[in-house]
Amino acid sequence: MKRLLLFIVLVVVCVTFAAPAFAADPITVTANTFTNNFRRNLLFELEAQSVAKITQIALVIQIDGMVSSGRQIPEFTPGTAVQAKYEWNYSRPGNYLPPGVTGKFWWEIEDEAGNKKQTEKQTFRVEDTAHNWQKLANDQLALYWYVGGDSFGKALFDRAVEAIGYLTQDTGVTVERQVQIFIYGNRTDFRNAIEEGAKEWTGGQAFTDYGIIVINVEPSNLEWGKEATVHELTHQIIHQKISGPLGDLSMPRWMDEGLAMYYQTYPGSLDAQFANPLKRAIQNDTLAPLRTLAGNFPTDSAAAVLAYGQSYSVVDFIFRHYGRAKVAQLLQAFKQGGYYDDLLRAVLGVDTDALENEWRKDVGAKPRAIATRSAATPTRFPTFSLSTDPTLPPGTKPTVTRAPVAAQVTPAPAAPTTAPRAPVTPITQLCCGASAALVLAVLGLGWVWRM
Ligand SMILES: [Zn+2]
Repeated sequence: MKRLLLFIVLVVVCVTFAAPAFAADPITVTANTFTNNFRRNLLFELEAQSVAKITQIALVIQIDGMVSSGRQIPEFTPGTAVQAKYEWNYSRPGNYLPPGVTGKFWWEIEDEAGNKKQTEKQTFRVEDTAHNWQKLANDQLALYWYVGGDSFGKALFDRAVEAIGYLTQDTGVTVERQVQIFIYGNRTDFRNAIEEGAKEWTGGQAFTDYGIIVINVEPSNLEWGKEATVHELTHQIIHQKISGPLGDLSMPRWMDEGLAMYYQTYPGSLDAQFANPLKRAIQNDTLAPLRTLAGNFPTDSAAAVLAYGQSYSVVDFIFRHYGRAKVAQLLQAFKQGGYYDDLLRAVLGVDTDALENEWRKDVGAKPRAIATRSAATPTRFPTFSLSTDPTLPPGTKPTVTRAPVAAQVTPAPAAPTTAPRAPVTPITQLCCGASAALVLAVLGLGWVWRM
């Protein structure tokens, strides 16, 4: 009996003294929700209580693919029981997030007594719930569509998988993060899903940071849709692999677009809409100097079509003449960074000008007279410089340097790549606008193009 009493006393003592260690958290969260109202807003709501007045609340949002997280301060009335709400409003400039974006969020709460609490990290996903999405996916790619039936989505998916296979086999580039492609089956739906105020001619948008592509492909336009899908997918995969930690990409534009055109086409041949202008330019000796295609593509539609055709042709030539191992090495070299001419010389043994003349010979164009350039002292230019730039002093031959426009200027989680597309032929609608955006970026007009 004595022993039992002693035991009870011990238990009571233990419980009494141990109690503070097991005391309930002074701050308790009674509700913590995320509501997706795509394309109006994303709502983050919190209800919390504490023994003392809650005076500080912050919401941290970390979007997958972004380097930094964003800290938001919601409005709320301080008290021992509070309700806080943060609205990620799509109508605010720079706040657009495409469907498929995922991330984590958590709350940081503090009361007057100095008690602090951080909620568990929760995941969220932006969804366009206006459609009944069908999905086909593997580790590398997820394709979503909702019109055209099984065969339509499968045709796009199969072509994309095939293209990834060629790209991997040729260049050793592998997909590290699954790319998501959303296919909108008509113009109205597409307009309702992309950023409000996007250019009328926009046919697709690519968000390299998030690994997301949004394209308008009507089931009646399947063949174009396959090419457009592969074109944008190639950009995504190459950029994923080649970009620096801040998403900056340094690769001549002719190489970037040439690869996208190459895989969009491979194993077929270049579409007549590009092949014919290219043929004419070869015959009439009106090809653009390759050096000028390292930076901005022309905004004029005929010149843009030729730029795409030429880029394809040069990349095709590199594959045929130097072999795919060299293409793989070249991509690695661009990832390391440096002057384009140095990198080309190190891998292919020729600089831009010499490569251009080899290619011209191969396609049957006249050799181009190229002024000799002092290799010892490459001129450094802070931005894209075109060899035809009339503002340069006579005799100066600029070197096209790394692409500074690719730098991220906004660390906030919301500044997706939005590319207006030029009103030219269908396939160039997807990418041509990139050059327009680049031109604006170079002119400092505030465009951010991170592809
Ligand atoms: Zn492109």
